[in-house]
Formats: sequence, C-alpha cells, structure tokens
Amino acid sequence: MTVDFLIIGQGVAGSVLAWTLDQRGCSVVVADDPVLPSASAVAAGIVNPLTGRKLVRTWKADDLFPFLHKFYTGTEQQLGVQFFHPKSIYRPYRSVAEQKDYLALIADPAVQPYVNQLTTKETYDCCINNPFGGLEVTQSGWLDLTEYMRIIKGYFIRKNQYYEGRVLDADLIIGDKKVAWQGIQFNKVIFCDGVQGQENALFNYLPYNPVKGQILTAVAENYSIKNIVNQGVFILPIRDGLIRIGATYSWHDLDWQTTDDGRAFLELKVKSILTVPYRVVAQQAGIRPSTKDRRPFVGLHPAHSSVGIFGGMGTKGVSLAPYLAEQFARYLLDGEELELEANISRCVSLYNY
Ligand SMILES: Cc1cc2nc3c(=O)[nH]c(=O)nc-3n(C[C@H](O)[C@H](O)[C@H](O)COP(=O)(O)OP(=O)(O)OC[C@H]3O[C@@H](n4cnc5c(N)ncnc54)[C@H](O)[C@@H]3O)c2cc1C
Repeated sequence: MTVDFLIIGQGVAGSVLAWTLDQRGCSVVVADDPVLPSASAVAAGIVNPLTGRKLVRTWKADDLFPFLHKFYTGTEQQLGVQFFHPKSIYRPYRSVAEQKDYLALIADPAVQPYVNQLTTKETYDCCINNPFGGLEVTQSGWLDLTEYMRIIKGYFIRKNQYYEGRVLDADLIIGDKKVAWQGIQFNKVIFCDGVQGQENALFNYLPYNPVKGQILTAVAENYSIKNIVNQGVFILPIRDGLIRIGATYSWHDLDWQTTDDGRAFLELKVKSILTVPYRVVAQQAGIRPSTKDRRPFVGLHPAHSSVGIFGGMGTKGVSLAPYLAEQFARYLLDGEELELEANISRCVSLYNY
C-alpha cells in the first residue's frame, strides 16, 4: 500500500496543508503527538494585515488575506461548522500627534484597502480609554484554533487517516522515491513540526529564531466590544465576557513556562486601555517558530526529495498557512514554482551534504 503524504504535526500548518492536499484528492495520513507542546494550542489566532505602530503591511498581504478568508470560510461551509470570525481590529489613537501620524500612513494607496476611517467612536467608549478615537483595520479577524484543530483532527480520524503519537525521524526509512514508516510506503513525508523542527535531524540546518509568547485569558463581564482592540496589546473578545489579552515577545528563556513578568507586562499594558473590571483566569506560554529572515520554511529537503517541510510560520501561522499550502500543493502536484522567498532552497548553503 502506498499513501501519498504523511504529515507530521497537526498545528495550524499541518492542519491546513493536510486539508489542502486531501481536497486535491491525495491520500493523507496525519500524525501528531499531543504530549508535545504546540504553538497553535496557545495562539490567539488573529489575522491582521497591518501590524505594529507603523501599520506595516504583512508580507504578501494582497495575496494572503483574500485567500485566507475564502479558505477558512470554504472549509467551514464544507464541514458545516464555524471556527473563523472575521472582525475589524480597532486601533485607538494614543494622542492627537499619533492620529496625525496614522492619517499620514493610511494615505498610502497600498494600505488603504485595509483601513476603515469611518469608525463610530461611541461603539468603543463603553469599555476602553478612547479620547482621540481611532481607525479600524479591515480584512482581519480570528481563527478559533482549538476548534479548528479539533474539527480537522476529527475529519482525518473518521477517514481512518490519523495517528496519535510521535514520529521519530530515526524510524523513517528514506529511499530515493518513497519513505517507509510503520510498514507503510509514503510518496512524501512533510514535517509540520513547528519549533520542534530545530531538533529534527533532517531540517535542523535551517536558521530558526524562536520567539516566546505569553497570553492571558480573562473574564470581563461588562466588556461588550465585538471587534478586536489593539494598542500595544490586543483584547480579543472570545464570547460573552471572555477575552484574551496578548501577547509578549521574548527571544530568551525559550521554554514553554508562564512567568510572573509576562503576566505583569500584559496587565500593565491592558490596564492603560481597559476601563471595565476583569479577572485573569488563565495564562499560557508558547514558542513561535520564527526564522532569522522572517520568511517561512517551505520545500523539499536538498538531499532527500521525498521529505519536505512546511513551517517557520513565526507570528503569523494563521495568515500564512492557507496561501502557502496552496502554493506547496501546486509545486508538489503540478510542478509549479514555489514562492522564492519562502522556499528553503534559499538556505541550501547551510546544508552539509
Ligand atoms: C502567545 C502566542 C500568541 C500567538 N498569536 C498568534 C496570532 O494571533 N495569530 C497567528 O497567526 N499566530 C499567532 N501565534 C503564532 C502561531 O502560534 C504560530 O505561527 C503557529 O501556531 C505555528 O504553527 P505550526 O503548526 O507550525 O506549529 P505548532 O502549532 O507548534 O504545531 C506543531 C505540531 O507538531 C507536533 N509535532 C512536532 N514534532 C512531532 C513529531 N515528531 N511527531 C508527531 N508530532 C509532532 C506537535 O505536537 C504540534 O502539535 C502566536 C504564538 C504565541 C506563542
């Protein structure tokens, strides 16, 4: 028996790629070890085309954002479930000077499609400090990652194409054209192992630059804003009275443990915006699989063309995965070119043959 693909890891990257290949008619087995930590299990799932104080447009935003909206809503329709929530991101101005700066930034025609200036200030006055008004970033929203990964897992379990447990690279018998694992032949094995890719003997030559992040979940009974708010930290309304507050960024202490400092940082920031009482009910930490050049890792191994990687999604896995999975599928199945900036061929000089 030969299976087309073994996907190792079912975070957002593995989920999206497995679904994309399955929908192209390929046979796909998904393997995931629930004992290993997962960044997707911690992430807020926000998709945001304009980030930071300078409203920097996300890399390839014009391709990624229309694609991801179609991708997630299409999957929802097909499976009859809901996990994707399109919502604007409100950016309150900190001062009149910042308002002026933002208005200058959004005069850029490349940024305009992602901005709504005609916001109703009063919509937000109920629960946040909002003396100067703000603007709304559009084409944004959030993916309920826990629900999404649960649904995709269930889909492959029902097809009898899911393995719960760890795949050790030492157990893969890599041939010229196929890889054998547990007595099954696979045409290709694709690692979607997140930051664990750093310890993967086949891909540990790739230049990762992991970033730790922490996030709070809180109950704020009187919080009634429906959109996401972002001013230094984001406030993401999940459902009645439940919000998530995030996130921190740290390039050291790269473990999956929460810290008092992380919580104190987030609380300090959120207290300067939020005007209703809240109570923290959970704190989580994760490691983002970021890369040195801030571009994802997609492609086939330089010496073993039956093994590939789909990772390095950094801070933006939810936005990047759908478009890049489509590109990867076209490369694998139709022989089309891969996005050069994402292709791991850019790192080939780091590989010791
Ligand atoms: C606090 C925080 C907030 C974030 N917020 C956002 C956000 O709002 N929006 C956004 O887009 N991104 C966000 N991110 C980033 C996001 O988490 C990542 O971009 C994304 O989750 C990476 O997904 P992944 O599938 O590559 O890796 P992971 O989610 O880490 O998944 C890897 C999976 O592989 C499995 N695995 C690894 N090795 C093996 C093996 N050998 N055998 C079997 N299974 C294996 C693991 O168990 C895991 O399930 C955030 C991250 C953090 C930490």
